[in-house]
Amino acid sequence: MTKPSKDIETVAELLAHAYRIEVDAEERYLMLADQMETHNNPELALMFRKFAGHEKHHAEEIREQMEGMNIPDIKPWDHKWGADESPEAVDINAIRYNMTPWHALQKALDAERKAFDFFDRIACVTTDPEMKKWAEEFRAEEAEHVELVLKELTKHPEPKEGWNHDPDPAVHQE
Ligand code: ZN
Repeated sequence: MTKPSKDIETVAELLAHAYRIEVDAEERYLMLADQMETHNNPELALMFRKFAGHEKHHAEEIREQMEGMNIPDIKPWDHKWGADESPEAVDINAIRYNMTPWHALQKALDAERKAFDFFDRIACVTTDPEMKKWAEEFRAEEAEHVELVLKELTKHPEPKEGWNHDPDPAVHQE
């Protein structure tokens, strides 16, 4: 549950948080991609790299927009997410090596929806029209990310029960 946004008071602060969200999300997706490669799931690795690319692109856009602004240098512990991790980061503890594309996409969906909620809340509560404009723009970006994940999910339906049982167990040869 993300409930920090009432404390974000300036556009500069909003942008700094948005930038952090995107950078964290990119790093996390790359980490997931590496894990999937290690565990021989190139399809999923490629997908995560694609997602990381989206986040990176967005982070770069935000950085361009921040140029010339007086952006506060926010330390990790001063971020106003109200949680330990930035809202868009995928929960790394939830990653299992034999996670199917569907499982991984659920994690991605969860992270993108949290990011959406973060900006949505700011867009809804702020009384500053400038802040509202930015928050709505970021919210729209996250809505697109959610759509992308949902689209991938149509290609990777939920596996049937027993998906994690090895269908071809190693046989001990004498
Ligand atoms: Zn996103």
